[in-house]
Amino acid sequence: MALVQCRECGSNVSDSAISCPQCGVDGPAGTGTLIVERRKKFMGGAVGVSVQLNGVEHGVLRSGQSVALDLAPGSYALSLWARGQGSEAEVVIRSGKTTKCDVDLNAMNAVKATVGSPA
Ligand SMILES: [Zn+2]
Repeated sequence: MALVQCRECGSNVSDSAISCPQCGVDGPAGTGTLIVERRKKFMGGAVGVSVQLNGVEHGVLRSGQSVALDLAPGSYALSLWARGQGSEAEVVIRSGKTTKCDVDLNAMNAVKATVGSPA
């Protein structure tokens, strides 16, 4: 855990702080990136996988597609849905880092998420 300057008020904050203890701004150290990528596969490739973070939808991925989101640091509940079946995973976002999540759909249309660490 490193100290960085708050993007709003300039005071020292942890790079993993969710809000600034001085001015209260969300994500004081700046945003991190989440990349959710669906592996390219012929089987079931046309079945859309809905990507939701904390219950908010961020798009539908078909085979080989990906979505990149800029997010305030913190942990998020990632839900992936395909044909009414869901899979949940926790993702951690760190300031200035990229967290990757690989999405795979098996023959039973079950979604598998493989979440990496922020890097
Ligand atoms: Zn601040």
